[in-house]
Amino acid sequence: MEKVIGIDLGTTNSCVAIVENGTPVVIPNRGGYKTTPSMVAVTEAGKRLVGHIAKRQAITNAENTVYAAKRLIGRKWNSPQVKNAVATSSYRIVEGPHNDVRIVLRDKEFSVPEISAMVLQEMKVIAEDYLGEAVTKAVVTVPAYFNDNQRQATKDAGEIAGLDVIRIINEPTAAALSYGFGRNIEKTVAVYDFGGGTFDISILEIGAHGVFKVIATAGDTFLGGEDVDARIIDWLVSGFKEEHGIDLRQDRMALQRLKDAAEKAKCELSSVRETEVNLPFIISSGRNEALHLQRSLTRQTLEELSDDLIERTVDICRQTLEDAKLEKDEIEEVVLVGGMTRMPRIQQAVQQFFEKEPNKGVHPDEVVALGAAIQGAALVDDKQEMILLDVTPHALGIMTFGSYFEELIPQNTTVPTHRTKIFTTSRDNQTAVKILVMQGESQRAEENELLGEFILTGLRRAAKGQVEIEVTFEINADGIVSVRAKDLETSLEQSIQVTATSGLTRDEIKSMMDNAKDDLVDRRTSEEFEAARQEAEKLISEIEKLFPQVQQIVASSDFGRDAIEKAKAIVDKARAAIERKDAAAVKEQLEGLTRTHRMFKGVVAKT
Ligand code: AMP
Repeated sequence: MEKVIGIDLGTTNSCVAIVENGTPVVIPNRGGYKTTPSMVAVTEAGKRLVGHIAKRQAITNAENTVYAAKRLIGRKWNSPQVKNAVATSSYRIVEGPHNDVRIVLRDKEFSVPEISAMVLQEMKVIAEDYLGEAVTKAVVTVPAYFNDNQRQATKDAGEIAGLDVIRIINEPTAAALSYGFGRNIEKTVAVYDFGGGTFDISILEIGAHGVFKVIATAGDTFLGGEDVDARIIDWLVSGFKEEHGIDLRQDRMALQRLKDAAEKAKCELSSVRETEVNLPFIISSGRNEALHLQRSLTRQTLEELSDDLIERTVDICRQTLEDAKLEKDEIEEVVLVGGMTRMPRIQQAVQQFFEKEPNKGVHPDEVVALGAAIQGAALVDDKQEMILLDVTPHALGIMTFGSYFEELIPQNTTVPTHRTKIFTTSRDNQTAVKILVMQGESQRAEENELLGEFILTGLRRAAKGQVEIEVTFEINADGIVSVRAKDLETSLEQSIQVTATSGLTRDEIKSMMDNAKDDLVDRRTSEEFEAARQEAEKLISEIEKLFPQVQQIVASSDFGRDAIEKAKAIVDKARAAIERKDAAAVKEQLEGLTRTHRMFKGVVAKT
């Protein structure tokens, strides 16, 4: 049977695993380490270095050593995350030709997938050395909260590395696979995954016969151990500035040394209460004298410096539980994944929130790669009994007339999936429609991520609203999206596999959206909508008529003011739903409107 490796392509470290004789094992690299730094460098002589040897020379070759490339993958040049990385990285990040991101190493520009490909290739070689044979197939993991562009770019990286990436799976899901593998358990678990660059939380049901079903997932792709390191660096830099009046950030080599020292101190403080940061000859005073940095850092200070970051992860957990419609006590096990979960304050925060001791039984650095290997083996071996049902982390839809985001696939829908909705033309004699494919949670289209666009032309000329266009979204098991639009009368069809071109600036996207207005589709005004609209508008008008009277009668009590606020909110929601021509949402508000109307009438009648 063909061997499939599982690769955890981490922000800080990467890990490769395989299932051997039914047992998942991590493959050590040549140095005997089970993880390899996700670092790439080019030496003065033009030699490429990957992993530990890149890390070892990082201080003396800071400008040509890339770390945390995962934070940039699939991102656009003008995104705030990239701007932040440009300001804080010791290597040079420049704008690419398609508003994408390029990294400059010794005057040569590399795309981010190319950099990640070097790390993936290293993992492939580690596996081949160990197995003594060529390996081409891999399952690669990504943070659950990665969007389509980031997933595509990761897949591209695999291809550049000469790997056939047979599946992309989410990191917390992989961790759950590894946790539940071969244990025949039935449990609801939360996987809290805090790594070097990203935070993810997933809630899963592990069922009998190897069924792993994700119920909800959320996260932040720019929240990780690197941010904690950055807080320590800030603290060291400002302390040094106060003492010597010199900004250490100006010196790339000093910055790289600070970065190393900050991470080291952070890790040490997971087991001791106080540590010393000691960086001799960090910079010259400008008066021919070398300055040293020496400062002691306590666990308590570290906790103060990073508390808001930890609190952000807890907020995301709270939201995910709500999305999963579960109470804390329904979570039977909390599994900790990612190097940052070694920090005692984080373990404590998780315990406080979930009100139970988290499970530390899995190895936080290895569990994700092991899960990927388990999934890989299951994909090529029919005898393996395992079903993995994951969800899409973001809602997917299109932009409709009026710049609304019309959702086709809601967040946390089990994938693979497909959904279809019918739209109509938005003006008379419209012969083309432009489909702007978007991902995100906002009702305003421009606040979401644009994934791609295509045009369906050759529509028959007809009055506005007369031509019906069927739009179908499909998400495959990798979480990658394809979209199809079809003229229902002529069966004319256009489709795209959404690709990670990321070739547009925010302004370009906005102007594209503006320009596309004429060609957009509109929501279909159905009879169902008309009926709901009429009923809602009648109720709104009656409520509004009664408003001044009711206000006068009840405004003096807290309860009355509260009731008025609520009534206003219901009316606003109903109005917005009418404007969006969203039949289901209008119907949803009818009950509230009827209740409000009845209450208002009652108040007036009593006086
Ligand atoms: P991962 O992406 O899962 O490999 O996690 C890497 C992150 O975990 C990096 O930010 C590390 O600095 C951090 N980390 C590793 N070991 C420890 C430790 N003992 N205490 C605190 N953080 C750690």
